[in-house]
Amino acid sequence: MTFPNQPGAQATGVSRAFPVAGAPGWCNVVPAMSNLEQSVQFLKGVGPARADLLAKLNVGTLGELLFHFPRSYDDLTDLRSMDKIEAGVLQTVQGEVVEIDGKELPDGRQVAKVVISDPKGKCVAGTWFNTMMFVNKLHYGQQVTFSGKPKWYRDHWTMNHPRVQVVNEGEAKLEVVPVYPLTEGLRLENLREAMRAALEKAARDVPETLPEAARVQRAYPPVEQALWQVHFPETLPQGVHARRRFIYEEFLILQVALAVRRRGVRDRQLAPKLSTTPQIDAHIRKLYPFRLTADQDRAVAAIVKDLASDRPMQRLLQADVGAGKTAVAVYALLVAVANKHQAILMAPTEVLAQQHWQTIEKYLAHSRVRRALLTGSVAPKEREQTLNAIRAGEIDLVIGTQALIQEGVEFAKLGLVVIDEQHKFGVNQRARVKKLGVDPHYLVMTATPIPRTIALSVFGDLDTSTIKQLPPGRQRVVTRWQAETQRERVYQRFQEEMKKGRQAFIVCPLVEESEKLDLTAATELYEILRTGVFKDFRVGLLHGRLADDEKRQVMTDFRERKLDLLIATVVIEVGVDVPNATLMMIEHADRFGLSQLHQLRGRVTRGNVAGECYLFAGVTTEEARQRLRAIARTSDGFALAEEDARLRGLGEFFGTRQHGLGDLRFGDLLHDFDLLEMARADAIEIVAGDAGLRKPEHTALRHAVLARYGQTLDLAAIG
Ligand code: ADP
Ligand code: MG
Repeated sequence: MTFPNQPGAQATGVSRAFPVAGAPGWCNVVPAMSNLEQSVQFLKGVGPARADLLAKLNVGTLGELLFHFPRSYDDLTDLRSMDKIEAGVLQTVQGEVVEIDGKELPDGRQVAKVVISDPKGKCVAGTWFNTMMFVNKLHYGQQVTFSGKPKWYRDHWTMNHPRVQVVNEGEAKLEVVPVYPLTEGLRLENLREAMRAALEKAARDVPETLPEAARVQRAYPPVEQALWQVHFPETLPQGVHARRRFIYEEFLILQVALAVRRRGVRDRQLAPKLSTTPQIDAHIRKLYPFRLTADQDRAVAAIVKDLASDRPMQRLLQADVGAGKTAVAVYALLVAVANKHQAILMAPTEVLAQQHWQTIEKYLAHSRVRRALLTGSVAPKEREQTLNAIRAGEIDLVIGTQALIQEGVEFAKLGLVVIDEQHKFGVNQRARVKKLGVDPHYLVMTATPIPRTIALSVFGDLDTSTIKQLPPGRQRVVTRWQAETQRERVYQRFQEEMKKGRQAFIVCPLVEESEKLDLTAATELYEILRTGVFKDFRVGLLHGRLADDEKRQVMTDFRERKLDLLIATVVIEVGVDVPNATLMMIEHADRFGLSQLHQLRGRVTRGNVAGECYLFAGVTTEEARQRLRAIARTSDGFALAEEDARLRGLGEFFGTRQHGLGDLRFGDLLHDFDLLEMARADAIEIVAGDAGLRKPEHTALRHAVLARYGQTLDLAAIG
């Protein structure tokens, strides 16, 4: 069996997250003279040459070696009698050597064959190519075992390159053999020998991080025993269980960190109570030209409750594309303003800040809310005035880019921060905003539906509101993955629809390494289409190299229907709300992730006409094929997000660095979800009983949490 999150198997190659010996912070936990700090070089059978090889695996000390876990196990304990053999499954058979044979094939390869037989005369043959090693050591009449995956060949079972063991005194030695991530020149046997020596020397020095109560409740072995069992299990289940202990431990440390942070924020900070009276509610609802959907209402109710408390709201608002989260955020902003507090809405980019500004201007057309837009393109003098007004409390509502607002805006009376993260995530960012001034309430919006497993980990310290429903009458977009031969037909379709007054996007991917190339591609495409198939239409080009005001101009033209077709390379900046745009074509669709594709096509589902999205891609990998099939089949963003995470692995799905918590070393959020939930429940209980982790039984856990997450999560609360 193979484990999903393994250095060898699915290596992301990024930093080691787990606080093993040698990692920063380990010194908190390990006594100065610990054997864990010793170099592997002095282990029996290692020496300088092998130490260099181990260094390539990031193993320098005994502690690091102990946490270099097997990638998989070969279970040789499954001993079968020869009439119970099953094809293709690793198993072991025992018998007497009855035939030893070596010959050369016509192509020059040497093939060796050894046949063993049981007392009933059933036989299994082992074959080896280009190695006579075993054969020379074996002799007729000897009892041996073969371990391997049998195949039925003509009239008998054979195993290719089985593992052979000579059976002494009638007892076969049946083992579970750990298989390690290796590097060239380092043999499995060497590593196993070194591991055994390291375990003997240093395993007892590894501190026990798990509180006794949790460990016993979950029936995990103590750390020393668990290490032995991970490396040299007696049975496969024992090895797997011991390994789960370490995954659980890793999750527990993460979840305790999140629980501590959550409590820290809630218990130590006081936020203004922002209450929503029936008058305020009625007043706000009058601003919408529509009725909120049931999902929106539920989100609003949760927010209203949070805001009325003097503990800062910490809420994540996630919604499928176009499901109306901005509308909900506006409600929250206005509650703050109605309570005579300032509120801010921050967007990740200039264009999105603009977009929000326009949206909110629509809602607030007849309101007296004093509001300001803060972006890079606001002239310095005007910005200075705005900043002064904000400081003096003369502005209620500020909309702007995250960078600008964080840079140095002082608020007279800040009550609520809304962050539109779009596809960007980050605990760090949230930590930074928190320090803006007083303790505001806090709403994070995300346009990428987040699988529950991520919500529990990356956003484990936030409450979550989810909008799945689309506004009434809204059509899901029809998505088709098209063969290149269909291109002309799709162009025709665009022409027909644009003649009727509809608008369209053509999106080209942007790959950072070859930004220039892509730019050329998009520009060329623009020229070709503008002067070719679409010469009777007004075509615009939007790409990342344009200056902000040029971008804004193009967007405005498109929104005001001065353009029929927009060719765009810039994914996030396509975050536009143009209900009249109903057509989209995506070039090289295989270069986009599932969530991105879903975001993109969300741009043509804004109105009440069913959007159409055509994907073009010369697909080379099976994974890409699966992705495109999934996007064409499924319109539910949440289902897609799960699918995406499954296809790519969570690390990729989020971009390891984006979520800001670093890689998990042993655990895999999707695969080990049961452990994640378990660890979360235990963490909440632990922190509920001992918020500062001051009890003696929590000392080691506290050290581990601080070492791993103290900085990232700003855990002053337990520092
Ligand atoms: P999101 O921020 O999730 O992308 P928005 O709040 O921007 O969604 O809403 C998307 C579009 O749907 C906007 O044009 C908005 O006016 C409209 N909308 C939002 N909520 C509703 C609703 N309850 N009924 C009808 N239209 C709605
Ligand atoms: Mg929006």
